[in-house]
Amino acid sequence: MVFKNIALILSGGEGKRFDKNIPKQFFKLNKSSILEITVKKFLKSKLFQKIIVVGNKKFNKQTKEILQNCDIHLIDGGKTRQMSVYNGLKFSKKFNPKNIVIHDSVRPFFSNNLLKESIKFLNNYDCTIPFLNIYDSIRRLQSKNIENVDRDKLKLVQTPQGFNYGKIYESHIKYKNLNFTDDSMMAYYNGCKIKFIKGEISNFKITEKKDLEYTKKLLDYNENNMRIGNGFDVHKFTDGNLLTLLGVKIPFKRKLEGHSDADVGIHSIVDSLLGAISEGDIGNHFPPTEKKWKNKNSEYFLEYTKKLIDSQNYKINNIDITIICEEPKISNFKEKMRKKISKILKIDINKINIKGTTTEKLGFLGRKEGIACQTISLISKIDEF
Ligand code: ZN
Repeated sequence: MVFKNIALILSGGEGKRFDKNIPKQFFKLNKSSILEITVKKFLKSKLFQKIIVVGNKKFNKQTKEILQNCDIHLIDGGKTRQMSVYNGLKFSKKFNPKNIVIHDSVRPFFSNNLLKESIKFLNNYDCTIPFLNIYDSIRRLQSKNIENVDRDKLKLVQTPQGFNYGKIYESHIKYKNLNFTDDSMMAYYNGCKIKFIKGEISNFKITEKKDLEYTKKLLDYNENNMRIGNGFDVHKFTDGNLLTLLGVKIPFKRKLEGHSDADVGIHSIVDSLLGAISEGDIGNHFPPTEKKWKNKNSEYFLEYTKKLIDSQNYKINNIDITIICEEPKISNFKEKMRKKISKILKIDINKINIKGTTTEKLGFLGRKEGIACQTISLISKIDEF
């Protein structure tokens, strides 16, 4: 069987300058590690019949854990990058591939288009190399001399690099004893026909810790990824002696009336979160006409909404809740409520604020006929590269 395109992702580096204990590819950007982001993007592209990750034997356990849900082959790397690629090429032989794309796992910000381009030109070329022009001035500093360097003749070379499998395997065997910083240089020495393609500034190599910090900041402050939602709910009092508010049972001379447990606070949070992800309102997801929601614990609605938020790759930034009523007094229950909500939503308690107010005895709330609650939630997209 011939596998047309194979991907070789290098994850063997220890990068001790970055951190002496954990290789940089295992560091997380929001909720996923750098390695996972890179591998998942390759999988999502559906351009490759096989994906081979060349790891480091020492970190096999971590790599397997990170990639446990990914359909990939994990093999051991060598002492150098070049030897790791060679191991990967040797392993790939049984798949009889036509093309192979080689990529460094610590470049997670490549576009799908760049992957496509790295393969597209391999019908007419042996090798594709993404490059960037240099726009900064370049100086060579030698003892006391400062020398200008013509930047037009210099290029920055990136991965993913695409190759005709046979040609790059042959190059690696031929130049096994020479040391190259990447495979395209080997291909050049072996007389391969090379196509230069446009690289991407965002496709930078995470090298130092400050790169990671910079990336996190970029992700955190990307306002385009933020969404806001508003929720409002009212329930009236009826005969009873206990009411449920924001997941906390409050002894009171009355209770709240509703189809479910009538937790007006949780309902308003659910509506605000559903609003933020454009998923309608609580009634769309849990129609009061359906028997199964009768007397339902509202915590279930909130857990369901949290799963929806997770599945759409959002995280909750903060939630601001205002309870409006004359009675009961909620100040003594606020901390318990915050704890409860933070536990259900699995977010830090400091991201939740609860306020209590009255309507100065005006209107139905002023006449102590029920409780209203208003919530505003802010969420933001995660791992969008
Ligand atoms: Zn309600």
